[in-house]
Amino acid sequence: MTDHDPGCERCEELLQGYLDRDLAPEEVVVAEGHLDGCDYCRRRYRFEERLRRYIRVSASERIPVGLRQKLAELRDERPAF
Ligand SMILES: [Zn+2]
Repeated sequence: MTDHDPGCERCEELLQGYLDRDLAPEEVVVAEGHLDGCDYCRRRYRFEERLRRYIRVSASERIPVGLRQKLAELRDERPAF
């Protein structure tokens, strides 16, 4: 079992658009189909979703630049689940 199959790569490509509700219908099918069967990507999706919600809330509260930077770094890191 590999921990990164080609479907995951495709899914990661689609993930941002999926979170933005910005995908074509057939891409949504691909993303959802994959998320449905892949624990890794599902967790990644939930992580991104939480992060986005947090960033949205934080942005409206004018968080300090340092903290914003920290969040940006957090997002670039691969979360170790
Ligand atoms: Zn996957």
